[in-house]
Amino acid sequence: MANPEDTPKGQHFLLSPDCRTLTVLDLAKMRDATAYDWFKRLRWPETGGAPYCPQCGTVRCHTMSRNRFKCTERTCKAVFSVTSGTVFHARKLSFKKMLIAIWFSANSVKGKAALQLSREIGVQYKTAWVLLMKLREAIAWRREEMVLNGEVEIDGKYAGGHIRPENKAEDRIDRRRDPPTRTGRPDVYPDHPRRRQQRSLGGRP
Ligand SMILES: [Zn+2]
Repeated sequence: MANPEDTPKGQHFLLSPDCRTLTVLDLAKMRDATAYDWFKRLRWPETGGAPYCPQCGTVRCHTMSRNRFKCTERTCKAVFSVTSGTVFHARKLSFKKMLIAIWFSANSVKGKAALQLSREIGVQYKTAWVLLMKLREAIAWRREEMVLNGEVEIDGKYAGGHIRPENKAEDRIDRRRDPPTRTGRPDVYPDHPRRRQQRSLGGRP
C-alpha cells in the first residue's frame, strides 16, 4: 500500500498510479517462485518476508523440502510453512493461482462469481467456490481484530450476506389450495415470528 502523502492532494487514491502497482498482466507472466515471495512478504512483513517460528518467534529456521521451515530452537522444533495457521493451509493450488484468486476477489467490488474464477484460473467450479469462501472467511476473521489508525480511506466491498433459507418440500405452500389472507395474497410466511405474534394478539390470521 502506498504512502497517502505521495498521492497528490485532492486526487482519489483509486485514480493514482499507486493503486496500479500489481496488474493482471504482471500476474499472468509471474513465476510461481515470485508469487511465493509475495506470500512470504504478506505473511511476515516485519522481517521483509524472512520466516520466523509461529510458536517461539525465532528467526533461526531451516528451510526444508516442499517449502516448509523448521525451527532450530531445541525446545520448540516446530515445522511450518508460509500458509500454516491461515485459511490456505493444506493448499493444493499453486501460489500463483492463489494470488490471482486474491487479486480478482479484491478487485471485484460486487463480489466474484466462482464459475467465472474457475474459467479464469483453470480450476473446477468447486475448487474456485471453496477458495472464494476461504477468502471471505479470512476477511471475517480479520475484521474482528483489525484496528485502523492514521488517515484512513475506505472503499466498499460486498462479502457474504443473506443466507437463503432452506427450501424444504414439506415447508412449501400450495398457493392454489391455501386460502388467501386478509390482504388477498397468500401468506407466504405463516411461521414468521411477526405472524405468530399477530395471531397471539388476536390480529389477522
Ligand atoms: Zn520455534
